[in-house]
Amino acid sequence: MSTADCGVNCEIYDVIVVGAGVQGSSTAFNIARKGHTRSLLLEQFQLGHTHGSSHGGSRIIRSSYDVQHYAEMMPEAFKLWKEIEQEAGVQLYYNTGGTFFGHPDSAIKSIICHFQQLDLPHEVLSAKEANSRYKFLNLPNNFICVVDKSAGILAADRAVKTLQSLFIKNGGKIVDNCKVTSIHPGDVITLKTDKEDFKTRKIVLTAGPWTSKLLVPLGLKLPLTPKLCDVYYWQVDHPELCTIGSSSREMGVFSQSLEKNISCYGLPSFEHPGLVKICPHRNIDFDPANCEDRDTCPELMEEVKQFIETYLQGVSSSPSVKECCTVTLTPDEDFILDRHPKHHNIIIGAGFSGHGFKLAPVVGRILAELTLGLPSSHNLQPFKLTRLL
Ligand SMILES: Cc1cc2nc3c(=O)[nH]c(=O)nc-3n(C[C@H](O)[C@H](O)[C@H](O)COP(=O)(O)OP(=O)(O)OC[C@H]3O[C@@H](n4cnc5c(N)ncnc54)[C@H](O)[C@@H]3O)c2cc1C
Repeated sequence: MSTADCGVNCEIYDVIVVGAGVQGSSTAFNIARKGHTRSLLLEQFQLGHTHGSSHGGSRIIRSSYDVQHYAEMMPEAFKLWKEIEQEAGVQLYYNTGGTFFGHPDSAIKSIICHFQQLDLPHEVLSAKEANSRYKFLNLPNNFICVVDKSAGILAADRAVKTLQSLFIKNGGKIVDNCKVTSIHPGDVITLKTDKEDFKTRKIVLTAGPWTSKLLVPLGLKLPLTPKLCDVYYWQVDHPELCTIGSSSREMGVFSQSLEKNISCYGLPSFEHPGLVKICPHRNIDFDPANCEDRDTCPELMEEVKQFIETYLQGVSSSPSVKECCTVTLTPDEDFILDRHPKHHNIIIGAGFSGHGFKLAPVVGRILAELTLGLPSSHNLQPFKLTRLL
């Protein structure tokens, strides 16, 4: 740390990243890897906590995207996850394949179009073909199904820990149980926390559902809506058909295209042996101030039961395990990857809108480039915060 500018006892970091979820951990790793070893990652809770958006055993990764700029980012995301696995010597991605189904005129249409444009391996099946190939499906005749060969599972908790380990290995430092209570901008920024004060030349805010709390005092009111999501694990009649590693497995990750009626996604058995994960896309309002006092929503569970009854076969009628998680939505569900409009040494990564995990290595790269003043490897237009002001 440099002590030159602020006296003998005051250390100045190059960069402090606030929030050690998947996005903050990936950003910190990318910054340290570029040689900025005077970097610090601060986390308000204990590492591995379950109050934010990044905990849990699994997340879906897939090439199938109905929005073009994310579809275009996915090949790089796959490549970077592989590099992270190699650098750390751990497996994070499990290729299961995926089925994405819905009405032909739903978002499925754009997914197919992007597969074709990007020349990615996929198949389009009629409902009848899908039902006969996958015993767990019971799709109505007016649906179609896209098979995404690249889709699979990311071991979520393991991925976050791996990014944090690589950050430390590259010279970074993590302090957890340390809540940033206020940010005082300037060429040298002061961060007040419930432990001690820190000084830094730049900060990255990747604070998930708590982002607004930190930004409003800095004069920036972004339309970020924290939501609570339910996660359910269900028993199945034939676990061998739905278990990662089983030679007879046929269930991959799956999702119904978002529509007005019930809409869910699912993953084969991974973190809870014998149980598959099936969850609603819909979520409910939530106040991050009460993050330790939350429960699953009976209404959402009823919706998932209805989805299972309508579209699946061989799944039990009530879940064996229930968990909660949070997401932070922007009105257009596009991410925010940008600088504070007035304080350019404050970088913001927020509003990952329930689909950010798979893209964390790309997000970390982009936020590191923004922080270090490097040319951007991506078109950042869709992620500018001015679109929301
Ligand atoms: C149920 C569920 C399923 C999902 N499924 C998928 C999926 O299949 N595929 C996919 O790609 N994405 C998925 N997502 C979305 C993905 O998990 C999120 O986009 C991602 O985890 C967001 O990470 P984050 O780092 O922005 O937020 P978080 O994980 O919430 O991290 C923010 C961190 O900042 C810390 N923090 C906040 N304020 C302060 C402060 N003042 N001082 C210090 N620390 C602070 C918090 O404690 C927290 O640890 C899913 C999300 C949920 C909830």
